[in-house]
Amino acid sequence: MKSFVERYEGKVFRVIEKFKLLREGDKVFIALSGGKDSGAAGYVLVKYVREKGIDCELTAFHMNLGLPSSKEVEEVVKEQAKKLNIPLVTCNVADYGVDMAKIAQLPRPICSSCGVIKRYLMNKIPREMGATKVATGHHADDFIVFFFKDILGGNFSWIAKFTPLLPGKGKSIARIRPLFWVGGRENKEFCDSIGLPYLEDACPYAHLERGKWYEIVEYMASKQPDFRRRMMIGIAKLAELLPEETQTLRECEKCGEPTSTKVCAFCRLVQAQKEVKS
Ligand SMILES: [Zn+2]
Repeated sequence: MKSFVERYEGKVFRVIEKFKLLREGDKVFIALSGGKDSGAAGYVLVKYVREKGIDCELTAFHMNLGLPSSKEVEEVVKEQAKKLNIPLVTCNVADYGVDMAKIAQLPRPICSSCGVIKRYLMNKIPREMGATKVATGHHADDFIVFFFKDILGGNFSWIAKFTPLLPGKGKSIARIRPLFWVGGRENKEFCDSIGLPYLEDACPYAHLERGKWYEIVEYMASKQPDFRRRMMIGIAKLAELLPEETQTLRECEKCGEPTSTKVCAFCRLVQAQKEVKS
């Protein structure tokens, strides 16, 4: 009987192969947040590339958010990169004009603002450093939760993006999600089993928006064998049926990064932040 670690790695390996996440010559930046999910994604990607002898360059990438906990988070990321034995690139969001303490005071959910900042820098910096792809720790539970929320909210078009490989286009770099078939609990068990350090709460705001939906997914997974993988296969098939996004991206008037609006969400956020009194 295969061990948990072997089964887990096998599932992630199958996602990498089935969806052709890696190609020879790829330069992949692995976004590490200090948490279990991105740590697990990075570990298995590195293992896959070494075992299969693929010519891929892997680099760990971390964004320091400048929060009180960020120093500790960065230390854990350093340990993770050391265990993965790959180089680490870090950046400070403050260098891009972001002040999280002020952003937290804006009348909009902090998690959505943080998402804008991360997506922006996770695209800009790796691309400028010659990366071909960015890998993230998004996992099955994230997609299943988004899926339910999108169905309830009637935002079906988003579901088209629920794939393990989101191709790049123009200045938008390709994104890969090797944990497409595994969930949060499995990632935690995997990190604990292989002794990969991680922070329980890499984000001090995480408690605000997580919670009940993840518990619902966890409950379903506990009642229905292979729930996550089968659900994700279904969602990926549905995503293929949806019309491709027709929205054309243009360059932000202020910074030149890809956006669907005149001024990109990141530049608008930084502008709004400037108006917050300190
Ligand atoms: Zn911009």
